[in-house]
Amino acid sequence: AKVRIYQLARELGMESAELMELLDTMGVEYKSHASTLDAETAEAVKEIVREQRGLEEQRKAEEARKALPHRAPVVAVMGHVDHGKTTLLDYLRKTRVAEREAGGITQHIGAFDVHVGDKRIVFIDTPGHEAFTTIRERGARAADIAIIMVAADDGVMPQTREAIAHAKAAGIPMIFAINKIDLPQANVDRVMQDLMREGFVPEAYGGDAIVVPISAKTGQGVDELLEMLLLVAELEDLRADPEAEPKGVIIESKLDKRAGVLATILVQEGTLRIGDHVVAGEVWGRIRAMMNADGVRLEEAGPSTAVQVLGFSELPTAGDVLEWVPDEAAAKEISEERKEERKRREEEEAERRRVRSMADLLRQMQEGQQKEINLILRADTQGSLEAIKGILAKEETDEVKINVMLAAVGAPTEGDILLASTANAAILSFGVNPAGSVKKAAEKKGVLLKSFRVIYDLIDEVRVMVKGQVEPTY
Ligand code: GDP
Repeated sequence: AKVRIYQLARELGMESAELMELLDTMGVEYKSHASTLDAETAEAVKEIVREQRGLEEQRKAEEARKALPHRAPVVAVMGHVDHGKTTLLDYLRKTRVAEREAGGITQHIGAFDVHVGDKRIVFIDTPGHEAFTTIRERGARAADIAIIMVAADDGVMPQTREAIAHAKAAGIPMIFAINKIDLPQANVDRVMQDLMREGFVPEAYGGDAIVVPISAKTGQGVDELLEMLLLVAELEDLRADPEAEPKGVIIESKLDKRAGVLATILVQEGTLRIGDHVVAGEVWGRIRAMMNADGVRLEEAGPSTAVQVLGFSELPTAGDVLEWVPDEAAAKEISEERKEERKRREEEEAERRRVRSMADLLRQMQEGQQKEINLILRADTQGSLEAIKGILAKEETDEVKINVMLAAVGAPTEGDILLASTANAAILSFGVNPAGSVKKAAEKKGVLLKSFRVIYDLIDEVRVMVKGQVEPTY
């Protein structure tokens, strides 16, 4: 439809003069602000205005980000087993950690700070790179930069490729540390060749892959590695808002005999303070105490700070995102909601498996032309067993025989599962519930295991099986 210039201007929330300026740049002719534009032109104008506003918003968001203070980079050390990850972390802890409190030793909390001049680098120090991986699987990102360690006497190995894949998937930059250059059999060039085969051309060969030869044992090259980390961090322009709502990720958690639940949080945004209420996955807590890797008690922890905290209700899971909540009621409600959500998901999954194993059972019976339904019956009393058997006998048809292999009092056992799986039988129980381990075993073996509280529901289940024998529906 046609639209007058002043109408369109009003629709777009701009002055007519402003719109006419835009029309001029578009080369659209008009007489006055009352002139009409055809639908096509109006649409083009809207498109341009939308785009300009989008760009404007992007620019503003970027400007706001640029106004935030820088934060320290968080580094994960990854690589093949025995290529020197632990040795490098030990070396850094021993030589690079700031002067400690008198007599204090570095605590293992899952991350520690390294100081280079007035700059700080946070090293994630959890065993292996599993933590890094699970964190990523949960959608969070803990590390900003990955150091990929490759031993100079061994070259690129399967777990090196794995580490590279993880860093790539996380979208974080990598620095390759060719380690153990102190060894006589070290061959840095060979590792460079290996890396090129993986698609990384080292700077020394005219590419842009950062490669630093080091010895985690003697410390040779480690300064340069740290310099490179700071350089990459600068390029990444890492920033965070210390005033924002606190957010982080659980790096590690453990149960301490004396202290109770200890969890290490990497604060990523905002500032976490003593007394704050938090939720991590299904677990809630109130921060009672915070300590850094140097054993120093903290009142608050800003962006890129790893702190071990006291105050969680239960063990939080490494990799879970930590969120700030206003009070304990909210914390409890959110964790309760999440628990229920998970239970619902698990039940749905169990139901899907049940339907599947039921279908499998029926199909197997048909394929084998087995006109027999094998059952294991379990009930609370001998009386109910007899009652069930009596009714089931009447459900037999000329075509389908019901074969009760075992009818016993008590809950189904793992032995029943074994029997059922070898004899292709279903286990139906009345008034008794199988233990969790038995349920798991049934799931694993694909055995149909069902409990009933009403005898006639159990009978109905058998009727469905009989029917399935006669007229296959699966
Ligand atoms: P990780 O499995 O990657 O953590 O490897 P480790 O740090 O446990 O190192 C495996 C072995 O290599 C250990 O015996 C270390 O002492 C040794 N190692 C690590 N780095 C160096 C190094 O730079 N030079 C030499 N000579 N040995 C090293």
